[in-house]
Amino acid sequence: PDLAEQATRSPALETLQRVFGYDAFRGDQAEIVEHVISGGDALVLMPTGGGKSLCYQIPALVRPGVGVVISPLIALMQDQVDALRNVGVRAGFLNSTQDFAQRQEVEDAFVAGELDLLYLAPERLSVESTVRLLDRGKIALFAIDEAHCVSQWGHDFRPDYLMLSSLHERWPDVPRIALTATATEATHKEISQRLGLDNAKHFVASFDRPNIQYRIVPKNSPQKQLLELLRTEHQGDAGIVYCLSRASVEKTADFLVQNGIPALPYHAGLDKSTRAKNQSRFLREEGLVVVATIAFGMGIDKPDVRFVAHLDLPKSVEGYYQETGRAGRDGQPSTAWLAYGLQDVMQLRKMIDKSEGDEMHRRLQARHLNAMLALCETVECRRTQILAYFGQSGQPCGNCDTCQTPPERWDGTIPAQKLLSTVVRLRNERRQSFGAGQIIDILLGKTTPKVTQFQHDTLKVFGIGTELREPEWRAVVRQLLARNLLAVEGDYGSLVLTEGSAAVLNGSQEVQLRREPERPARAPRTSRR
Ligand code: ADP
Ligand code: ZN
Repeated sequence: PDLAEQATRSPALETLQRVFGYDAFRGDQAEIVEHVISGGDALVLMPTGGGKSLCYQIPALVRPGVGVVISPLIALMQDQVDALRNVGVRAGFLNSTQDFAQRQEVEDAFVAGELDLLYLAPERLSVESTVRLLDRGKIALFAIDEAHCVSQWGHDFRPDYLMLSSLHERWPDVPRIALTATATEATHKEISQRLGLDNAKHFVASFDRPNIQYRIVPKNSPQKQLLELLRTEHQGDAGIVYCLSRASVEKTADFLVQNGIPALPYHAGLDKSTRAKNQSRFLREEGLVVVATIAFGMGIDKPDVRFVAHLDLPKSVEGYYQETGRAGRDGQPSTAWLAYGLQDVMQLRKMIDKSEGDEMHRRLQARHLNAMLALCETVECRRTQILAYFGQSGQPCGNCDTCQTPPERWDGTIPAQKLLSTVVRLRNERRQSFGAGQIIDILLGKTTPKVTQFQHDTLKVFGIGTELREPEWRAVVRQLLARNLLAVEGDYGSLVLTEGSAAVLNGSQEVQLRREPERPARAPRTSRR
């Protein structure tokens, strides 16, 4: 570039091009970077992959002193620092994984002003020696990454984050930039309040991911359904498959390999080197599928992930959005596919009941799950519903499964009453409770050994539900559970009534249900080949 051009380039743009080798800022980046460079506080809400890191990395390089980055992702710090060092940025980190000598080296570099960026685990700040250390160097800014961790209402609360409000009291002149990819209206406010970001400028990017096709299908035999999806639409594509348990990760990966799909497992039970190897193969090689628990993906930056499949229900819309958001970062059409069934609802409800923590915490988890279930059972556009969850509006996308094949609504009040009555009768007349399978057998009038054994064929409700088939009854149970009109209890998934059941039983509340479309959604609208 000639001298004149160089003179007109801002230091921020010059740094972007010289250090990171990018041509231009994206979206709000330029504005955010200038704001922080000039000493302002900022709250940045940007989806995963939006480019949050540069929003603090560039100001840290342009402003005098060291940019201190608070991040809970300890496992990623080494990678982040290595990546920065590769482009010549002087970066270091301090967390619990280091020994004394390693820590000392970073501390010395910080004090000597030989660092541009210092990554800190939040709990480091509760150690007085860290605070004293920070006092001995010059701080360019504080970046609070994953800022939603400060929210007690969020899905990822970390108590250590509450202390971050003291940063401003201790270093009032240092600008702070808080960043997150997950923020509903409520969390957004809470971050601002808890971190004392009263004067911060808010930068809210759109959460819309138009190139992702959202599809949520009834779960029958998940592995086969997955294989079908991969064979018909994603042959040779890179993708991520999420499962809830380590065991199902292993089983699913084996299943895919046996069926000729190159798949690698990834979960916290694998030793560190295997995990590292599988992750780096996924990043470097083409067309690999990683089958993983949610431990995988934090900070994964692979642009051409063509699909993200969930074989188990995520616990929150935030989690679902973040996980599916790893697809299609290159802007090309990609699929977010989730198989969801009755068992998921029962399992997650049970997990919440059994979870440690107080009543408030359980209620919160239940609220997150309810929002996720509402997304699964919606008859509206999935994408607008996700956006609405994040407080943003949008038009029906025309691309998701419900837009392409609008599910019918039907009046399920009478079936719901029949089902709930069966639960009531078992309880009142027999002091018994049973799982969905037995209740459905009773409704269908099936004389199975278990029905005969418990003489359930003598119940008045025996055989009153032959107007629906078994899968339809399962859908009724699932949807009642999803709406809290029915609940599960105990280790065997016994069905019990909820406070809401009464209104359905006495006819004061109608139950509109979703009929599963017979035809599945078509492949993404724009074909790549
Ligand atoms: P986030 O933290 O928001 O998930 P990252 O900061 O990890 O996102 O950025 C995602 C990817 O986008 C990275 O590979 C990053 O290098 C790239 N990126 C960010 N900003 C730009 C830009 N202005 N030009 C080109 N690539 C960018
Ligand atoms: Zn849609």
